[in-house]
Amino acid sequence: MRIVDIRELAIPLQANIRNAVVTFAEHTVSLVAIVSDAVLGGRPVIGMAFDSIGRFAQGGLLRERFMARLVAAPPDDLIDAAGTGFDPDKAVRVMMRNEKPGGHGDRAHAVAALELALWDLNAKLAGVPAWRLIARKFGIDATPRMPVYAAGGYYYPGDSLGRLADELRRYADLGYRSFKMKIGGASPAEDMARIEAALKVAGAPDHLAVDANGRFDLKTARDYGRAIAPLGLRWYEEPGDPLDYHLMHSLADGYEWPLATGENLFSCRDVDNLIRFGGMRPGRDIFQMDPALSYGLGEYGRMVAALEANDFSRSQIHPHGGHMIALHIAVGLGLGGCEAYPGIFAPVGGYTPDCQLDETGITPGDAPGFGLEGKPDLAPYIAELCGK
Ligand code: MG
Repeated sequence: MRIVDIRELAIPLQANIRNAVVTFAEHTVSLVAIVSDAVLGGRPVIGMAFDSIGRFAQGGLLRERFMARLVAAPPDDLIDAAGTGFDPDKAVRVMMRNEKPGGHGDRAHAVAALELALWDLNAKLAGVPAWRLIARKFGIDATPRMPVYAAGGYYYPGDSLGRLADELRRYADLGYRSFKMKIGGASPAEDMARIEAALKVAGAPDHLAVDANGRFDLKTARDYGRAIAPLGLRWYEEPGDPLDYHLMHSLADGYEWPLATGENLFSCRDVDNLIRFGGMRPGRDIFQMDPALSYGLGEYGRMVAALEANDFSRSQIHPHGGHMIALHIAVGLGLGGCEAYPGIFAPVGGYTPDCQLDETGITPGDAPGFGLEGKPDLAPYIAELCGK
């Protein structure tokens, strides 16, 4: 078995919204397809994946380095020991040849997209949903049901409070019971009014998290912490720069409710440093690293192991990225929950129609792999990439 071709397509995100730091209107995502010479049902088996939301496509990096290295590799450098599928760890080693350590930026997303496409390909070869293959490989007794919250609560021009409440009500009507909203993009007084408006929809403080997207310095982070502490919100996310472990540690000293961070850490070494220096608290704080931004599932597995070795629980891990890949990984690894972006970040964000949402969580459908082919808004891009 070998790779015949690898393709990449930069696709735009449908998201004319902003958080405290960025607007998503210009963001793109790399959709990749790894075409194998295996054939099922008369068609070549193709592994599909993308890197995650909130960054930009990596077409240049992919074509010049990572896709080129995979295509040039001898098949034995990519095949698993049984010879029945591809070995994602071996593939990452091939992709990372001549790459210096550290400086994990966009290359972590590019490698992740390809590594995850191999997981999708393997699951399709095995005829199982990706979560089932992931659970088997990582030795997890997984249940295909994952607690989920609707992430949104963005800033809108004009009637921001009313539109925020309307947005969260729409999510509630879809069946979501927990929510996350943005803070830090308005004055503290305005943000507190927004939180109050959102709490009216959420119904209970442990159903509402807030996300500052790394906006605050330590003083502002503490000021916001003091203002929201009496509310007892579900968590307070990325108060400061994601690499400012001193800020997290200092904030954790005085803020009793859960803090969350990790979506902008792209390597296990970064997570090691968060564990050592960030003051994160076992049994309380939330880790949000995103496998589709951080070299894929192999590196993610090492992050999970590092957390468990330091007395953190899988239930504290809620990967960033409200999409099918994150859902399958959260289920397969038995993590604490996942997020959803109902109605935004299409065609990458959102779940396929065969996913079932109820009061207890979301269940992925039975399609082999990550099920991306079942996502109607993604279908035209997959057709463009795969020539169907
Ligand atoms: Mg966030």
